[in-house]
Amino acid sequence: MMNGNKPEEPAMGGDANTLEGAGAAVPEVPIEVFRHAVEQAAVAMSITDAHAHILYANQAFRRVTGYALEEVTGHKESILSYKVTPKIVYETMWAQLLRQRPWNGLLVNRRRDGSRYLAELTITPVLDAAGLTTHYLGMHRDVTEVHRLERQVQNQKTLIESVVDAAQVAIVVLDESERIVLDNHEYKKLIGELGDEPLAAILAALRQAMGGAFDESRRSRRGFAGRELAIETRARRSRWFTCSGSWIDEHDASADAFYEPQRHQYLLLTLQDITALKEQQEAIRVNGLRALLAEQERIQGLREVMFGTIYQLRGPFNMLAAAVRLLERNGEPQPDGALVASLTEALAAGEATLETLHASVPAEADEASQAVDLNELIRDVLRIAAARMLAEGLVVEWQPDPVLPPVPGRLRQLSTLFKQLLENQTKPIYET
Ligand code: FAD
Repeated sequence: MMNGNKPEEPAMGGDANTLEGAGAAVPEVPIEVFRHAVEQAAVAMSITDAHAHILYANQAFRRVTGYALEEVTGHKESILSYKVTPKIVYETMWAQLLRQRPWNGLLVNRRRDGSRYLAELTITPVLDAAGLTTHYLGMHRDVTEVHRLERQVQNQKTLIESVVDAAQVAIVVLDESERIVLDNHEYKKLIGELGDEPLAAILAALRQAMGGAFDESRRSRRGFAGRELAIETRARRSRWFTCSGSWIDEHDASADAFYEPQRHQYLLLTLQDITALKEQQEAIRVNGLRALLAEQERIQGLREVMFGTIYQLRGPFNMLAAAVRLLERNGEPQPDGALVASLTEALAAGEATLETLHASVPAEADEASQAVDLNELIRDVLRIAAARMLAEGLVVEWQPDPVLPPVPGRLRQLSTLFKQLLENQTKPIYET
């Protein structure tokens, strides 16, 4: 209690800082202490009468406003008002104060030297014993710098959001629970185009494409780049993306983490749509394979015709050779020695022709072994054979494993093999 009297001694065994001995006499704080406390407080304080005429201002008030006590005493608080604060703010303030409620808000104040600052002000009505407002207590601090920093952060956020939104790639930021905390215009477009929130499909495809490397990347906080993903649309069309990811650490801004900093990890994903490029590449690849298989068929056909011809010619030549051998074996004087000679010569010429023909048979192309993506190869072969299969009513149900490691093999031979397997079918094939 503040009564201006000399403070009483603490009661026996009582402690002003504990609740021990509750009910015992509590030492009173001398009025001078209150005066000094207000005078030396770090926050600017002023006391006015009921009409806002300043009666008292402390040292911090002088430091913040530039006005000495004698310069403001008797003046209204409006001496600090810089007239850009909207009238409605003051009206709200006074409406609150007249209801005897404290008011808290921001005002633009002008110092003695004319410079402006942003004041965070709290005004508390002081009531007398009869409940009437006799005075007001004003406390304010200069928050210009805090406001500047807040605005700067806000501006930077707006700038970053605009840049992110203007980017031609889809960008999405995920928290530790893989919930979206930020996404850009391109990503939202993707939701519209795919008809669904594609995050789950993207993460599943990413995990499949990266395997254990995804969790390792999270652990080591090392990003990844250029991962190709295919997302199936509702129209059962594949959309292709290259995906890159970066891990971002953010310091927890809560009070709990003030002395014990905690970090939160975010994942920034960028997705570039490469569907058009992929389709173009696929078309080139399929056309290449189509040409290759056609050439293979042509050579195979030619080989079969030439071997057939050689086989057909071999019969008469064998008969001719047998006739010559028969004539020679008889040993009798030849009715016409010139006949055997001619036949032998004709036989030799025929053999030479057969040899030439044999040598002209196109060889089967030698092909080096390479890493083959079987999914891609089967998809390409199916595409080439699609028209024919449709015409013959063949149905292929194929559910490829989305991630298949490349196997060593001969691309052309494997393509021919799958193509022949398809062509040999007379009934629908079911593959899983
Ligand atoms: P005013 O003439 O004050 O009028 C503005 C509105 O307030 C009008 O609607 C008017 O009717 C109403 N109003 C004004 N005085 C009273 C009253 N006594 N009772 C009921 N309604 C009233 N202002 C600042 O700009 N900066 C400060 O740092 C600041 N500190 C203050 C500290 C205290 C303790 C108090 C009580 C007020 C403080 N004010 C401060 C408010 C100040 O008194 C002025 O209301 C304000 O500056 C607007 O001044 P004005 O001359 O433009 O308009």
